[in-house]
Amino acid sequence: MTRVPVNDLARELDAERQELQAALNRVIGNGWLVHGPEHAAFEAEFAAFVGGGHAVGVASGTDALILALRAALDGHGGRVATVANAGGYSTTAATIVGAPVTYVDVDPSTHVMSPSALEASLTGDVRVVIVTHLYGRLADMDAISALCQARDVILIEDCAQSVGAVRNGRSAGAWGDFATFSFYPTKNLGALGDGGLIICRSEEGVHKVRQLRQYGWATKYRVARRDGQNSRLDELQAAFLRTRLPRVQGWNATRRAIIQRYADSAPASIRVLPATGSDHAAHLAVVETADASDLARHLMDHEVANEVHYPIPDHLQPAWHQQQGWDLPVTEHLMGRILTLPCFPMMTADEQDQVCAALASYDGAAAP
Ligand SMILES: *Cc1c(COP(=O)(O)O)cnc(C)c1O
Repeated sequence: MTRVPVNDLARELDAERQELQAALNRVIGNGWLVHGPEHAAFEAEFAAFVGGGHAVGVASGTDALILALRAALDGHGGRVATVANAGGYSTTAATIVGAPVTYVDVDPSTHVMSPSALEASLTGDVRVVIVTHLYGRLADMDAISALCQARDVILIEDCAQSVGAVRNGRSAGAWGDFATFSFYPTKNLGALGDGGLIICRSEEGVHKVRQLRQYGWATKYRVARRDGQNSRLDELQAAFLRTRLPRVQGWNATRRAIIQRYADSAPASIRVLPATGSDHAAHLAVVETADASDLARHLMDHEVANEVHYPIPDHLQPAWHQQQGWDLPVTEHLMGRILTLPCFPMMTADEQDQVCAALASYDGAAAP
């Protein structure tokens, strides 16, 4: 029995070899390497994919968060409210821009930001909310955006895991004042290297972000903002992403079907987080169980690789835990209880069977 990997990028690249080589040849042929025609076309195509707003390509999902936060705060200070269970990317960005973080607890059934916990956290000094559509699942955006609007708080959606998720005709990235995307190779829409993008709702927002990604320039060599930097999505990555963008919805549907198979096979002691509707991009197949390390050992015994997204909540990270006393009972309850199963569009039926059989044979303790 060969081990089922959590992901396998080589398979996907091989299947798309010809289209990717054609994209490479286009770039070599026209001689633009940054901010050329592929980048401009990708920005336009991606904005249309999300259903509006202005798209700004940047170098990574983390840069997208940093630049969106800088534009949102715009030198005024204020706190950033976000969750503590989403890998730390928001905390990294807030730390880089010098904004203090307020942690908000998550919903026990979906693991994304709880609107009622957010409401309790929206004290006067919170200026920005970053909501992460974790594992690919859209958060309760109608409730969250209503709370932000009522209090004049700027909303940033972190869509790094949720590209292509749609609820009632509205896509991930269509609610926030800003929405950030990552094209890190393992994301549902991956580049062949790093990449990121920001969707900006307003003209004012996109004006700021375009200056911030290019040295703070108002025009060439004329610096209008002192908080600018260099952050570019290069022409080659834009060309690859244009090739792949039309396939994302199909891939997401395949991912959802894989997670559904796991849900159908798992015993009562393993709760597979549902990813059934189009409002879930099914980026990660996450399960909840009483003892995740016990399940991890069982899966490895059955040659099924697995990971944890994410093992340490932000407020317990050694570098960030200076402020104590967060009230995050759900976030802390989930520690040691979550595990990520293999899930990628090119998984074979045999591999899916192997994961399903391993789940079905687990006789660990039921979750209380
Ligand atoms: C991957 C990821 C990021 C960071 O993206 P990079 O391109 O790796 O910088 C941010 N937020 C979330 C939720 C992610 O999954």
